[in-house]
Amino acid sequence: MLQVKDLWVTYKSRRSAGVAAVRGVQFDIPDNTFVGLVGESGCGKSTLGFAIAGLLDPKRNNVQGEVMLDGQDLRKLPSEQMRALRWSKLSVVLQGGMNAFNPVLKIKHQFMDVMREHSNMSKAEMTERIAELLSAVDLDPSVMESYPHELSGGMKQRAAIALSLVLKPRLVILDEPTTALDAVVQRSIVTMLSDLQRELGFSVLFVSHDLGLVLEVAQRVMVMYAGQIVEDKPASMLMEQAEHPYTQALLGCYANPRAEHVSLSGIPGSPPDLRAVLRGCPFAPRCAKKMDICAVETPRLVKREEGSVLCHLYAPKEVTVR
Ligand code: SF4
Repeated sequence: MLQVKDLWVTYKSRRSAGVAAVRGVQFDIPDNTFVGLVGESGCGKSTLGFAIAGLLDPKRNNVQGEVMLDGQDLRKLPSEQMRALRWSKLSVVLQGGMNAFNPVLKIKHQFMDVMREHSNMSKAEMTERIAELLSAVDLDPSVMESYPHELSGGMKQRAAIALSLVLKPRLVILDEPTTALDAVVQRSIVTMLSDLQRELGFSVLFVSHDLGLVLEVAQRVMVMYAGQIVEDKPASMLMEQAEHPYTQALLGCYANPRAEHVSLSGIPGSPPDLRAVLRGCPFAPRCAKKMDICAVETPRLVKREEGSVLCHLYAPKEVTVR
């Protein structure tokens, strides 16, 4: 359903050649799939979500590559067509989405604004749809009569998720949607989201720095480092069979609450400066398994039996014919 091909995003800068926040990313998301995108802060995951949704200002960013949704290249669509497609095919929930509600309008009027703009529903149909969605996110339908300030943070974020589903989109991009909430509310919202995704059959790109949370709900996990997806694997395999040294290091920072013994290790060093031209593997200065080739040659994406990995350790060996 979604295919991203060789996507680059460079933030323009007066003082440098720019910040290459997303660097040649490619992946696809089939129908009815929950995909998690994880990585440290500043690795480019939010930028990637915004680039897919066409939310980056072209005056400040240079975006190259293809973003195909149901065979349509979103990057080539005129802004009017892209506007029509948002909410109906693709919707976005941001970390601060709950604060984006207009404080002087009741929740129902904010839902109705979207429905009026993008559909021909009657008022009765709209009210019925709002009630249905609020129930689906475990809110009482009477919430539609509330003003945003009458709801808790968790309730507002549930309402924001319900709003993102109002026109039955095929893909919902959620960027750290629960980060501002406490751990118990986070978990209940993410579990609700995963149930809803399976029930309604849309696809999710769930951007988060919380590997533990992603491992619990996603079917597939993509790990991002320095603007690239370095590993893409079924979530069920990642814990035991991570292949990329960065994924392995990231898992070393995660305390599995179900494990009998937990030992944690950090990742030495820090991510590279994305203003610089990167040579070789960007993870090399922090990698415990680096080889000579890693400092000079950029690794290529290697297909594995399940998923893919961007690392010289798995590159097929060249055969020299004499
Ligand atoms: Fe480590 Fe080399 Fe693989 Fe990079 S390419 S992750 S430096 S082994």
